[in-house]
Amino acid sequence: MTNDHTPHEAPAVRPTVHGYPRQGPGRRLKKAVEGHWRGEVDADALLGVAAELRRERLQTMAEAGITEVPVGDFSLYDHVLDTTLLLGAVPARFPDLPGTGAPADRLATLFALARGTDLQPPLEMTKWFDTNYHYLVPELDAATTFTLDAGPLLEQVAEARALGLVPRPVVVGPLTYLLLAKPADPSAGFDPLSLLDPLVEVYAELLAALAGAGAGWVQLDEPVLVQDQPAEVLERLETAYSRLAATADRPRLLVATYFGELGAAAPVLARLPVEGLAVDLSSTAGARTAEADLAALTDAAGLAGKRLLAGVVDGRSVWRTDLEAALATVERLRPLVGQLDVSSSCSLLHLPLDLAAETAIDPEVASWLAFARQKLDEVVTVATGASQGRQAVAAELAAAAAARASRQASPLVRRPDVRDRVAAVTEVDTRRDSPSDLRLAAQQEHLGLPLLPTTTIGSFPQTTELRTARAALRRGELDQAGYDAAMRTEIDRVLALQTDLGLDVLVHGEPERNDMVQYFAELLDGFLTTEQGWVQSYGSRYVRPPIVVGDVARPAPMTVGWSRYAREAAGGRPVKGMLTGPVTMLAWSFGRDDLGADETATQIALALRDEVTDLEQAGIDIIQVDEPALRETLPLRAADRPAYLEWAVRAFQLTTAGVADRTQVHTHMCYAEFGEILGAITAMDADVISLEAARSRMEIVGDLAAAHYPNAVGPGVWDIHSPRVPSVEEVVESLTLALDGGIPAARLWVNPDCGLKTRRYAEVEPSLRHLVQAAHAVRARL
Ligand code: GLN
Ligand code: ZN
Repeated sequence: MTNDHTPHEAPAVRPTVHGYPRQGPGRRLKKAVEGHWRGEVDADALLGVAAELRRERLQTMAEAGITEVPVGDFSLYDHVLDTTLLLGAVPARFPDLPGTGAPADRLATLFALARGTDLQPPLEMTKWFDTNYHYLVPELDAATTFTLDAGPLLEQVAEARALGLVPRPVVVGPLTYLLLAKPADPSAGFDPLSLLDPLVEVYAELLAALAGAGAGWVQLDEPVLVQDQPAEVLERLETAYSRLAATADRPRLLVATYFGELGAAAPVLARLPVEGLAVDLSSTAGARTAEADLAALTDAAGLAGKRLLAGVVDGRSVWRTDLEAALATVERLRPLVGQLDVSSSCSLLHLPLDLAAETAIDPEVASWLAFARQKLDEVVTVATGASQGRQAVAAELAAAAAARASRQASPLVRRPDVRDRVAAVTEVDTRRDSPSDLRLAAQQEHLGLPLLPTTTIGSFPQTTELRTARAALRRGELDQAGYDAAMRTEIDRVLALQTDLGLDVLVHGEPERNDMVQYFAELLDGFLTTEQGWVQSYGSRYVRPPIVVGDVARPAPMTVGWSRYAREAAGGRPVKGMLTGPVTMLAWSFGRDDLGADETATQIALALRDEVTDLEQAGIDIIQVDEPALRETLPLRAADRPAYLEWAVRAFQLTTAGVADRTQVHTHMCYAEFGEILGAITAMDADVISLEAARSRMEIVGDLAAAHYPNAVGPGVWDIHSPRVPSVEEVVESLTLALDGGIPAARLWVNPDCGLKTRRYAEVEPSLRHLVQAAHAVRARL
């Protein structure tokens, strides 16, 4: 074969990925795991389902043409939690767990750490970099010792080999593990990084064990390298990997980074004494990556003998890859490295499983998209094209190019009316009429709420009846009138419950919403929603992110009918209107790759602004615009943050600033790590903000007080991510911490950490009762 692009002596370019969705078709894993929690699926059965799912996904990869497969990326709950068990780093505050000897005990231990026990709250959970995946935070202290517990991982290596595949174990790297950890006792002045030396010894043992099991390569993931790291951390990286490289009889080592540019880490990575690197060369990583990082990597001249996994297929984008561009990158890199392979930029965990499961997407639009299963094919196509020449994949390249052309020309994508409205936005549109203290006074006069008002974040449990009604509507077994009647009955019930519990500001409970983003996406122009496009958010919880296909506009009011109904049914108590904010709409959707996120956010903000105005006119005095995602899409690099925060804050302001002073704007965020975004949160100028605080024991309060946060705050007093019911005393203690920490009583609200839709009434009723009792008890002391 003659081929201009491929020197004959170069080894073939092979395809691989960093990981694949865990869920299985029809979210089989979720069903088995939740069945196990309910006691309906025993440990053996659950482990059997897990093994089957692992086999199926390996077979899927093999069918696509991938023979070197990731193993260890599968997880029953979370791979960082798995790493904690792999390293034997169960925190000392869980002394009574059954351990990890027998498989059933191991499961019990795993789920106890993930979900908490009667005695202990679970491990903290937080966002995995800038994705919407959540991991369980390792909890370490000076006394932590690591003990290798590699059984399950070795089994997975054997599973892949039994299928005739080449397993490449993928494990969170030691540096990333420690940098993602938190001190068990935040006040002890302990730095998890101080455990690097003993930890690396356990990784060395792991490498030897994996070599013994027949793994030729091991991938250690160090995504913390795409964040700003002090020089000291990069030095520790070198020391750690030099130690690992010195392990006798080890597999070849591949260090993987993803989610962004390498920056200062590039030269350090290039000279690590490891045999391979994986880098993110996708569009999500930013345009600079390919150029600057590759220059730095190749300049360092360490790459000539190494293997490089080129992450040219974006593992976080649902758009079909520009295969020509990917091939060009691969061809440019190939002469510079010892062995070049084509990869996804990161695990495909962050994508829906399979576009083929969608039956309702217009075929033209579907031709623009690629989900996890399709990305496998893309990776294989690029690798084949690089190895065998373009003509070997001519049909695939032509199809991809045709799809791109059809998308570019489609009227779905570009709407002049929307573009004109965005262009006409001015500064005035983003400011409320008066400063927040004047507004607060006007609102107080109008609403007459007690001190420490109690409320919830919006959703109430999504019961089986609600889901059944929604499914029946979808299948045509229930007509719209019947469905609406069922929702009104539910709203009545939820309002009655809140009245009975004595909550001050009521909500309608969001029964009509399948999901806080999807619901609005279905009602807005420009969004595409899926039937089966589930993506893991945490544990057994999956979301279906919509896809922003084109310019966004609101064809009709979306929530006004439900809010008006609830207001009339609430017997005079205030009912909050509930919207999902523009930044969150975008963050929890798959965005466009043909328009900036800032412009999409402005389009969404304008659509929501009209909804806010309509709610106000319908007599809704309190309107909450949730922005739980504002922090999670904060760019990983500090240099990129100011620009992001500027457009994100502006989008929130644009959504909410059109109301009168006496209309109270709330916002909600599901996290407490405010740090550098406190300024932005202040600039959002919501009258009331509720946020997560229970799991981190009100840590946020000090930050808010120190920053003189001017508006009202509801730091969550009940961790709704766990089935535990907080006691009255606990809630009193949290509120006392908030008051003592410097939040004035006149600006303190009492609420849970987040919405209640994933909880059961058996937990919700007593928890809210305790919350109200605690608020009354503290009020009485003021
Ligand atoms: N209003 C939403 C709810 O209560 C907010 C959820 C969230 O912040 N994730 O479900
Ligand atoms: Zn929340």
